[in-house]
This record gives sequence, structure tokens and C-alpha cells, in this order.
Amino acid sequence: MVRTRFAPSPTGYLHVGGARTAIFNYLYSRHTGGKFLLRIEDTDRQRYKPEWVDAILNGLKWLGLEWDEDVVFQSERLERYREVADELIDRGKAYRCYCTPEELEAEREEARRKGVPYRYSRKCLHLSDEERWRYEEEGRRFSVRFYVPDNTEITFHDIVHGDITYNTNDLGGDFIIVRSDGFPTYNFAVVVDDHDMGVTHVVRGDDHIPNTPKQILIYKAMGWDLPQFAHLPMILGPDRQKLSKRHGSTSLEEFRIQGILPEALFNYLLLLGWSPGDNREIISKEEAIKLFDLKDVNKSASVFDHNKLYWMNSEYIRSLSDRELLERLREYNDYLSDLGHGYAVSREDLEKLVKLFKERAKTLRDFFEYGVFVFSENYPLDGKAVKKRLKDPNIFTYLRELATRFERLESWKEEEIERVLRGYADELGVKHALLIHATRVAVSGVGVGPSLFLLLEVLGKDKVVGRLKTLDERVKGLQP
Ligand code: GLU
Repeated sequence: MVRTRFAPSPTGYLHVGGARTAIFNYLYSRHTGGKFLLRIEDTDRQRYKPEWVDAILNGLKWLGLEWDEDVVFQSERLERYREVADELIDRGKAYRCYCTPEELEAEREEARRKGVPYRYSRKCLHLSDEERWRYEEEGRRFSVRFYVPDNTEITFHDIVHGDITYNTNDLGGDFIIVRSDGFPTYNFAVVVDDHDMGVTHVVRGDDHIPNTPKQILIYKAMGWDLPQFAHLPMILGPDRQKLSKRHGSTSLEEFRIQGILPEALFNYLLLLGWSPGDNREIISKEEAIKLFDLKDVNKSASVFDHNKLYWMNSEYIRSLSDRELLERLREYNDYLSDLGHGYAVSREDLEKLVKLFKERAKTLRDFFEYGVFVFSENYPLDGKAVKKRLKDPNIFTYLRELATRFERLESWKEEEIERVLRGYADELGVKHALLIHATRVAVSGVGVGPSLFLLLEVLGKDKVVGRLKTLDERVKGLQP
């Protein structure tokens, strides 16, 4: 049975690259009816913070990536790493190294001076028991080094990249597997864990390709079966540099705060490195589970395009029923409130936001930002729109009269509202657009938005009339 795993290090929020790795692991396990496991690689105690673990777990849940079995924490497995390290020592595959940081630095300095790549001198490879005791009496602590055989080819088959060969001479020498503080290094812990967890497919970023031959040496030294490897291509920014903060948002939290729907982000990340084989771009998780296979993953890096993600998000927003969308907006606003910056909006006003902005919003946040005038009297007036649309010297008089006519309307419906406005413009002998634009600025503060008559209907007669009548005061308040 296929067993995949996602193994993040909790040194920050979940990044889109990590999330994409998690998605591919998840899909492959679901596609094959296997298991998707989660391991927290928390042995780098300097960079670790407990809140990052929560951020990762919450991020995965939000994306809809349910994992199987208990989460494995490396920090709880130190005993086990020691046990395997001892076994490697017994088998003559690893050895204790008592060199001090100063001694090692001197070796490195020497290599720099000679202009050759550094590799450990193997000074501690053949220590006698006496030498070891002497070092221990001196109070030196040892690290454990893995013995890398010389000039040996290691070839492995990567599901994405094909066969990859390394010569052991290029691996940088005997590497440390347990540091002198007793903590394992990444390359060691990952092998022990993947073996113990029964992982059959190691799916991760292709920045880990150079680590793979070292890991294979450890598997072989222990006589363990190798998993299959699939290294995923990098995600780049539009300038084809590794995706980073400079390119805009990169963490799941940021996208969530911006009002990206998790299914849209899932869909978008899915297409970074994989496609269903036709030109379809909107693919649900269920379809992806049916279609996804590691062998169809692209070799080349993909470029993260924020605009495309927003486009996809707007498609997902429009595909929700009004009721579902309302629910999503509510949840989103609750989430923002927990972070201390939610919006004060009643359920009734949320319904209005859905009616007005479903067709134009690219994010959940857009509903609240476009719609401030719906749920607050304190909506900003856009200076440019005021200048452009309210310059007719009679405009405030017109709008006040329009308000009076609106007040008399019995049925507050789009068509009626439109009839009154256009009729009044005809009476005045002015262009309809003059009143249309001015009314929009008066009731919403901005020069653009959904159909004006729908907007007026949804906003309600009282608010519209009130705002038309008091516009001049508000505009006066604007003048410096
Ligand atoms: N903790 C490693 C990372 O976050 C995991 C690498 C692996 O999957 O082996 O890059």
C-alpha cells in the first residue's frame, strides 16, 4: 500500500511551495487508496517555535488535506535515532568524532587556503579505545559521522526526473548524523523516520535531490528497503528567481487573510507542476484525486502568478450558491475578527454584499472593501470621483429633489427607481448620466460599482434618500 508523507520543518508559516508538496503527497495517496502521513521535523531547536506547528496544522486543515494516523514529531524520537546511530557504529558504517569546532574550523581554513572543497579529514575514523577515553575525560562530546565510501556511484530512479547518478566523492565527505548535542541531522532523521513510518514514496521539493544519495547510503548501511523518490520542481516568481516575499504573498495565512478560498488555492497550486492532460483549469479536489499521478508531474519549474490565482478565486466565488457564499463570508469575517480586524456587519448586510459584489469580487475581502457603504455610514468619499461627478453647480439641488421624488415611491424596485431618475433628468433637460454618476458617488462614495439601480434597490430607500439629501454637507466636510 502506498504511504506518502509531508514533513515540514516548523520554522515559519506554511509556504505555498510546502503546501504544493503536501497537495501532491495527499493526492497520490488518495489516488492509490493509500495513506497520507504527517511528520513535524522539529529537531532544529534554534529555529523552532511551537506556534509554527499550529500554523502548519491549521493551514493543512484549511486546505482540506486531512492526514492519516498520528502526527509524528521528530523531537519525540531522539532515543530511536540514537539507537540506529549505535547500530551503524556497531556495523562499522559510522563512527564517533571528537573533533572540536576549532579543530574543524582549522581544517576548513586549510582547504580554503589550498582552494579545494572541504571534506572532513577522518581524523577520528580509527581512534583507539584509549584515545576515546582520553577525549571523554577531557570532557569532549562526540558527534556521529557516517562513513561515506570513496568513489562509488549511486544511481536512483526519480519518478519525475528519471535516473540520477552521484559519485560519493562529490558528497562532501563523512557527514554528521548525530550532533554533539544528541540531536540528529536532517539527512539521518529523515531516513529513520521514513523507514519506521513505512513510507513508500518520498515526494518533496527538488532542492532535496542532492540529499538523496546520502540518504540512500544510510538505507543501504542499515539494510533497509529504499522508498521511491519523486522530486517536485521549484516554484519561481515571475522573474524566474525562487519564489519569495519579494514577489508578494507566499504563506497560506496571507492568502487566507486576503480572502482566497482554500479550494481555489488548492486548485491553483495543483496546476503548478501538474495538469490533467487537457486545457482544463478548474479542477475539483475529487477530480484531481481521480486523475493525479506522480508520473505526470512536470520536470521544469513553474512560475507563481498572483493574478491567475485571483482570477481562479473569482471563478470559485461565482460558482458558490448565494447561501454558501454568505456562509463563507461569515466564516472569513470571524477569522479576521479573531485576528483583531474583522468588520462589523449584520447578516442582512452580508446578504446585500453577496447580491452586489458576487460578480465582481476577486477575493472575500473585496466584498467588505467594496461594500463599506453598505454596512457603515462612515464610508469614504473618493476625492477624484467627487471632482469629476459632482462638478455641475446645481448638482446638490438636483439630488435633493431626486431624493424627494424617491421618497414618494411606493414600490422600491430597480425598474421604478430607474424610471423616476430618468424621468427627472428628462424634465431637467440634462443627460441621464449626470444624475446616474452623481447618485452613485452620493450613495457609495465611489465612481464605479454594480448596476446603479440594483445598488439603490439593495441599499434601501431610507439610506438612499438620506445620503442624497446630506451629500453637500459630506462634500463640504471633504474640503481642506
Ligand atoms: N523538513 C524538510 C523540509 O521541510 C523535509 C524534506 C523531506 O521531505 O525529506 O524541507
